[in-house]
Amino acid sequence: MLFFELVLYVLLGLAVGSFTNVCIHRLPLQQSIVLPKSHCPNCKTTLPYYYNIPLFSYLYLQGKCAFCEKRIQQRYIIVELLSALFFLYFGWTYELNINLFYFFILIPIFIMIFYIDLKHLIIPDSLVLLIGLLALGKLFIPNLDPMFTSLYPSTLGALLAGSFIGGLIIFYQYVRKMEGMGLGDLKLFIVLGFLFGIHGILFILILSALSGAIIGSCLLIRGGKNFKTQLPFGPYIIGASFLYILIGPQLIKITELFLLNIFL
Ligand SMILES: [Zn+2]
Repeated sequence: MLFFELVLYVLLGLAVGSFTNVCIHRLPLQQSIVLPKSHCPNCKTTLPYYYNIPLFSYLYLQGKCAFCEKRIQQRYIIVELLSALFFLYFGWTYELNINLFYFFILIPIFIMIFYIDLKHLIIPDSLVLLIGLLALGKLFIPNLDPMFTSLYPSTLGALLAGSFIGGLIIFYQYVRKMEGMGLGDLKLFIVLGFLFGIHGILFILILSALSGAIIGSCLLIRGGKNFKTQLPFGPYIIGASFLYILIGPQLIKITELFLLNIFL
């Protein structure tokens, strides 16, 4: 692959990361993601284009607003770098075709859900809907990566996710009289189930539950909070989904081989 091509993926990733930051800030506040132009959240000064260049402006301004010198949240630079890294990885791994298009849309959506749920404890319906559209669209696109499964495993995946998580929510509400997971988590699981099929959603369910239980209890112990404190679950679902699109299919193949060796 041409070096030039890889540089392009990094720059595209930085630009998409910059847009992702705007959405993370504005979607939960129900503001337009197009207008007004970017401004400092502290002093509200509209940023001229040369202070709005991903990564470079941050470095040049040494992480501070050029006008009020307030520190720029680290999240801005982390999101841009993450986005650039993921774009580089998928650009390197996949040929320039419809698969890459799918990943390049999923990456910013996943990052947005991660940060918005972390901060606001909500998962915007608009983002879930976008994943749903990708999940339906794949049925009409030939030659997609097998990660995006066909109708039958997809339907199973959505049903499994819906009934399992739906059951959990009902259990928590009626039996333990507390809110476990929210409807946002349920909707996200269902569209991911349809997108990645039964194998994929099993992987994501197990991994998010495990990491959520482990990291969640550590946070509760450290924070001295009781078990009724509401914690966002979306970041774990997204973490597991990222791992799935990175190494999931290979991992599933290995486990299948391993299980076959044990049982046959
Ligand atoms: Zn400022």
